[in-house]
Amino acid sequence: MHRAAFAHAGLNGTYDALRVAPADLWSAVADLRRPGVLGANLSLPHKEAALPLLDSLSDAARAIGAVNTIVHRDGALHGDNTDAPGLSAALSDAGYDWPDGQDVIVLGAGGAARAAVHALLGAGQRVWIVNRTLERAQAVAAHWNSPHVQSVSAHAAPWEAAALVVNASSAGLNDPDQTPLGAAFLARLSAGALVYDMVYKPAETRLMREARAAGLSAENGLGMLAHQARLAFQAWTGADVPVSVFLNALQADAPQPGPVLPQGDAPAGDQG
Ligand code: NAP
Repeated sequence: MHRAAFAHAGLNGTYDALRVAPADLWSAVADLRRPGVLGANLSLPHKEAALPLLDSLSDAARAIGAVNTIVHRDGALHGDNTDAPGLSAALSDAGYDWPDGQDVIVLGAGGAARAAVHALLGAGQRVWIVNRTLERAQAVAAHWNSPHVQSVSAHAAPWEAAALVVNASSAGLNDPDQTPLGAAFLARLSAGALVYDMVYKPAETRLMREARAAGLSAENGLGMLAHQARLAFQAWTGADVPVSVFLNALQADAPQPGPVLPQGDAPAGDQG
């Protein structure tokens, strides 16, 4: 995606995937201070661990407690989180029209769920967090300490009133048979509700398949992935490259077994 964006913007730059062991995070982050390095994206498990290694944080990164984008300027490293605005942009692209005070259900309680809560709460939605481990959902809700963010069991969630369900759990990732939600809950959603699955591999998850079978709209997380990348690229370079450039690169990459990497590097795996 980022190589396509460099080409589109007429900039001479490259983007490489590196596998960094947790013990090597400190030195990998220190390496970003070299002249000529614009920054980096972080994926699991580094998004939270990197926070204390950075010189400054955006409000979003601080509120979410996770950094997916580091911007380097003159030796200083700034941490940001483009997952939250990336999700918002992808939801709008998927037709979600952000009714004020709307009930929204978020599945999951990890970093992606916290990014979703930040984006949804900031846009005036009422967020209900449902997670396999209820205590983790309770901890996320307690972190926001807002009457508009509640943790709830799946049975007690307001399915009939919700216009949007965001899967921010990793259930279904690389497993077409796994789902975070029984079809009986999907059946309680009203016609016109959108099920947005942050998972994008496989392109149609079981959750999406069952949502569509129930007559609902469903989208995978490719749009979010493309938008978070677009925003990171803009933060690094100042160039506003259309999201279609990122999406086309992702779609062109889809039939390949994996990205081509310099020898010795491990596959990039899943962003996010
Ligand atoms: P994480 O911190 O590891 O959290 C994973 C969450 O998924 C936990 O709440 C966990 O529940 C839940 N979970 C895992 N397996 C489950 C299962 N079989 N059934 C129900 N719940 C299950 O991961 P994360 O960083 O938040 O990422 C979550 C997902 O979002 C990943 O698939 C990631 O690829 C995706 N993501 C996508 C984008 C994008 O751009 N599209 C961006 C960011 C993340 P417990 O608390 O019970 O363990």
